[in-house]
Amino acid sequence: MSRSIVIIGGGLAGLFCALKLSPLPVTLITRAPLGDGASSVWAQGGIAAAIGVGDSPESHARDTIAAGAGLVDETVAYEVAREASARIDDLLRYGVPFDRTLEGALALSREAAHSQNRIVRVNGDLAGKAIMSALVSAVQATPSIQVMENIRLERLLTQEGKMTGITALSTIKDEQITFQASDIILATGGIGQLYAVTTNPVEACGDGLAAAAEAGAELTHLEFVQFHPTAIDIGRDPAPLATEALRGEGALLVNAQGERFMLRHHPDAELAPRDIVARGVFEELAAGRGAFLDVRAALGKTFGTRFPTLCGTCATAGISPENPIPVAPAAHYHMGGVKTDRNGATSVPGLWACGEVACTGLHGANRLASNSLLEAIVFANRIATKLKRSNHPVVFSPPAKMCPVNVGKHDEKDMITLSRMLMSKYVGVIRNAQELTTAIKELTYSSHQRDISKTLENRLYTCLLIAKAALQRTKSCGAHFRNDHEKV
Ligand SMILES: Cc1cc2nc3c(=O)[nH]c(=O)nc-3n(C[C@H](O)[C@H](O)[C@H](O)COP(=O)(O)OP(=O)(O)OC[C@H]3O[C@@H](n4cnc5c(N)ncnc54)[C@H](O)[C@@H]3O)c2cc1C
Repeated sequence: MSRSIVIIGGGLAGLFCALKLSPLPVTLITRAPLGDGASSVWAQGGIAAAIGVGDSPESHARDTIAAGAGLVDETVAYEVAREASARIDDLLRYGVPFDRTLEGALALSREAAHSQNRIVRVNGDLAGKAIMSALVSAVQATPSIQVMENIRLERLLTQEGKMTGITALSTIKDEQITFQASDIILATGGIGQLYAVTTNPVEACGDGLAAAAEAGAELTHLEFVQFHPTAIDIGRDPAPLATEALRGEGALLVNAQGERFMLRHHPDAELAPRDIVARGVFEELAAGRGAFLDVRAALGKTFGTRFPTLCGTCATAGISPENPIPVAPAAHYHMGGVKTDRNGATSVPGLWACGEVACTGLHGANRLASNSLLEAIVFANRIATKLKRSNHPVVFSPPAKMCPVNVGKHDEKDMITLSRMLMSKYVGVIRNAQELTTAIKELTYSSHQRDISKTLENRLYTCLLIAKAALQRTKSCGAHFRNDHEKV
């Protein structure tokens, strides 16, 4: 009996898995052209790996466990930290030009809550772009990988509880396509776009989660959404990020009266953990006092040369660095997802998940910076290793059965805007039972409208799953903060 493998998603997780599966034939479908529409391309910091002198995987695992607020699977944390070095070697072989010291070793930088310098990076803050550019070239040079762009997963198909294929939408032709496959690797990324303010690309709207849930897969920890505290609030969607490095350099968070409001929330003020800073910023905005990042004293005239991208973004938005920069918390990373075992297998035979769509147990209630790219490559590799062990021959899965698609009768743009607003207002940085119940009621109403497209149905379904999970976890924990219940 032959098998066929389909990977859904062209971010780091999907591409790495396809390369690791080579020479087995795989079809990789992605919603955007290869190299676009993926958070991986936008990653600024880099990848965490305990490879420096004096560092150890055990120390990396301990930092990961501490950040995860009691919900990290410790075995997974130790295993992932130990595997990091081998996966960085893989990336070097695929041609990623990581920064080096004058002596030729990999240069390592420090990020929040890491006890050692252990972030490998490229050209300062261009890790994602460089990694993805190297992998896209490697994929294009690998004949066993058949890439199909502008195809959007709608449904996972099962028979007798096993994966049999998918239905997808050609976003260019408005046609539905069916692929048969015995093994499907879900690598569709995160959910940031379910929120009104996010740092994620438009493609990150939880399609994979909805499809997996509908196919009967177990999902977990969906309530844990990490909000970045300092997205630049200039009405751009997605919102540009003001990197944490600015606060590391001494930039201050102030309200419209010039008060350093983080001093009220934590002794480390601007350098407090990400979720605490996000709540501080959120509260200032909710109280109408405004929230701004003031770089003037810390960086002065060096702002433009040291942070050219951000300086350029401000200039285009008409913000002078002579004035504080308006900021807002933005949905940034989803810790929850499709539950997997230590090989990336989900609860449905034939369905695998890696990258941000998966919940492997590594992040618990809060992700440690730069652990997500690492998790993506570790689990992509494990899935490939497991699939390569099977003796059945693998053949390409050709697309079949094209039919015109129901594009929906409603003005879906308005419904999307409304659902994003609901998620930010009621399922956002600070939550309570009353507001979560309101969100669930409104989202349920929208999802019961007749003739909505499958893609909108998936979006609303994922919103509902997150809101319901947030309602169920009555205690605050990590990134999930309830103002109607105490912290665990
Ligand atoms: C601005 C920013 C900076 C970050 N910086 C870092 C960092 O420094 N270090 C770190 O570790 N992490 C960082 N992260 C997080 C990290 O980038 C992501 O968690 C990681 O890239 C996820 O990889 P992925 O392959 O799972 O998803 P993605 O890279 O988002 O790829 C998902 C893919 O799935 C496709 N897709 C989505 N839906 C469908 C569908 N229905 N059908 C077909 N295809 C679909 C998308 O088009 C895309 O190709 C950052 C994130 C952002 C947004």
